[in-house]
Amino acid sequence: MDNHWSDSATQGMDELDKLVYMSRLIGADPSLVVWGGGNTSIKVPERNFRGAEVPAMWIKGSGSDMKSMVRRQFPRLSLDDILPLFERESMPDEDMVAYLEHTLMDPGSPRPSIETLLHAFLPFMCVAHSHADAVVALTNNQDADSILRRVYGDDIAVVDYFRPGFHLSKLVRLAVKESSSISGVVLVNHGLFTWGDDTKSAYDRHIDLVNRAEGFIQNGNKSVFGGWERNPLNGEERRRAAARLAPTIRGLVSRQQKMVLRFDDSDDVLEFIGSREGKRLSGIGPATPDHLIHTKRKPLWLEVADPGDAEGVRAGLEEALSGYSEEYAAWYRECTSDEHPMLDPSPRVILLPGVGMWTTGKDAQAALITGDIYHHTINVIGSAQANSEFTSLTAQDAYDAEYWPLELYKLTLAPPEKELARKVALVTGAASGIGKAIALRLASEGAHVVVADVDAEGAKEVSEAINSSNGLNRSVSVVMDVASEESVARAFQDTRLAYGGLDILVSNAGIAPVGAIDELPLSQWQRSLDINTTGHFLVAAEAVRLMKEQDSGGSLVFIGTKNVPAPGADFGAYSVSKAAEVQLARVLALETGQHGIRVNVVNPDAIFQGSKLWSEEVRQERASAHGVSVDDLEHFYHQRTLLKTQVRAEDVAETVLFLASERSSRTTGAMIPVDGGVREAFPR
Ligand code: ZN
Repeated sequence: MDNHWSDSATQGMDELDKLVYMSRLIGADPSLVVWGGGNTSIKVPERNFRGAEVPAMWIKGSGSDMKSMVRRQFPRLSLDDILPLFERESMPDEDMVAYLEHTLMDPGSPRPSIETLLHAFLPFMCVAHSHADAVVALTNNQDADSILRRVYGDDIAVVDYFRPGFHLSKLVRLAVKESSSISGVVLVNHGLFTWGDDTKSAYDRHIDLVNRAEGFIQNGNKSVFGGWERNPLNGEERRRAAARLAPTIRGLVSRQQKMVLRFDDSDDVLEFIGSREGKRLSGIGPATPDHLIHTKRKPLWLEVADPGDAEGVRAGLEEALSGYSEEYAAWYRECTSDEHPMLDPSPRVILLPGVGMWTTGKDAQAALITGDIYHHTINVIGSAQANSEFTSLTAQDAYDAEYWPLELYKLTLAPPEKELARKVALVTGAASGIGKAIALRLASEGAHVVVADVDAEGAKEVSEAINSSNGLNRSVSVVMDVASEESVARAFQDTRLAYGGLDILVSNAGIAPVGAIDELPLSQWQRSLDINTTGHFLVAAEAVRLMKEQDSGGSLVFIGTKNVPAPGADFGAYSVSKAAEVQLARVLALETGQHGIRVNVVNPDAIFQGSKLWSEEVRQERASAHGVSVDDLEHFYHQRTLLKTQVRAEDVAETVLFLASERSSRTTGAMIPVDGGVREAFPR
């Protein structure tokens, strides 16, 4: 590991900027900290609100991420108020958090890190803390005592595992007091603390101590996972197998609360799950309590005869999942003192030898974080195995970490989830017009959105817009020609891999050829049927197959048209093919109701804004059909509605949202107009 400190980059910086700089250096290396882990602090004199200079500490705020820290994420605390706590015998976590709130020097600053007291009690200007994989690997093995001594001699103190909080903070302070010559403290099953009289020396020591651990691991003499037992399928086969299994797995892990899945078949995962020792090692436990919060104590290991036989694997999934949940429940009963009801017993990490790993989360980003963390778990296990045998937290310590009241309390502070949170929607024809408005609206209510369109560039733009305003990984784009069975199948495979399944399909893509029946070329008639009828058939069939595998219901919304109940002359190819689409939707409602899948239709009319349907040709043709000028066409359509109003793509999106959501949970086979009121289109 390289020391990245640059004297020229830090020249002229004040102490807080240097702290920000160091935090980012540490945060940039995922082998030191991942996703919110670790923390840093400095102690400097500061003026309080009365203008008096007092000893103060800047420390990383709880929940912020080291790689992207900025100044305002460091709250400032009054040390004179904190240090007297050291004299206390004990202090419950809740009291400590409440107390620290009173020591904030600036009202409204973020909550300080849970490891604040540990930093405060250390009498050094700067303190740096990481969960370095290499250091954790030295503590998580059967020979930790002798290994730590061999690597560090008397240069560090070792503090046994204890959950962060008052007691651990005192233990560390006492350990440092006893041995004045040490340059760091290693916390068993947790990580490393270093310090210095300036920021740079705390960082230098940190990197030095981690490097010594890495050097020792690299010289290890054991085959870490016992060699290959099962070679992975090739890349294409893995993806195919994963795509076929993902919806079933998603359905099974979503029984208590819906989850989004992420598939990962990177090399280190394949090596671990294909190895002789992988199964045993994966069952020992997490590398640190920090990891466990995301990954749970153990992953689900799927034992299969042939990973390429997706049907065979699928047959065993339900039993495997319930076995996992029963084991979780038994562990809960063994360790609980009943202060908190059992959390969701479903796995967060699922390992399928030969194929890859799924991680789960409330959204795609959470699933990604869990995946990232499991890579580090694998790394720590491998590093520990290089010289000894990997060990983990005790069952009780793991329980106390997962059911730590402060961690559970943090969950209650999260804002309420949005209406479509945890759900996955696919919208066809979503690069422009109505489809785009629908994609944006569903995303704004928390859905993950697969933006499908023949226009790859346009789809990508919509998807990127969703990700920048709704959060990372909220959307992916897929190229889909709805008239091509192969293209639709490929897009659905991508969807299955991206999020593990689908809850909402909005079948929207369409074209609008114009011309009287007796003048229409067969090719245009056929093209209209291919896209406006067969396209919906192909997309819906894929969606229904997926939803049945997932076995947790679903909602299909078809974008029809006012022309279905009230067709227009010279618009035959369009009206006929869209009528067939609506009949398809009704038949689907009959066929899928028993699976909890609802199928409904929205009939818009005369939506011009951003629509590719209203080409110049269609505008001219419709204008002459109605005897108005092209410029007056939109106005003509508005004025002929009962509400005398413009109908916008957003109005359609609002109705789609209603039909996609649980608010319409008792409605299927319905057709809702969004046309400003067209008397001819009233049902007869
Ligand atoms: Zn920590």
